[in-house]
Amino acid sequence: MTSCSFCGNQNIKNSLSEYTYRHNGLYMIFQNVPSLQCEFCGEKYYTSKVLKRIEKEFIDVQNGKKVTRKIRVPVEDFSKVDVA
Ligand SMILES: [Zn+2]
Repeated sequence: MTSCSFCGNQNIKNSLSEYTYRHNGLYMIFQNVPSLQCEFCGEKYYTSKVLKRIEKEFIDVQNGKKVTRKIRVPVEDFSKVDVA
């Protein structure tokens, strides 16, 4: 990859990113995921190999595989919050 398909910037660096996978209302957070990141706009790109592995891990965890740790995530409904 030579330029960011989002902003066209050509400075793309290797980085380790946090990726949140969401499927049917279930979430799984992956940390230190190899990615390419645009130094200008911050857009992140993942290889299909990485994305397939994330999907596989998610399925494995649904089937009982142990994860590094679990967190509790607060949820708020903004239809009940006055933000006008
Ligand atoms: Zn960009």
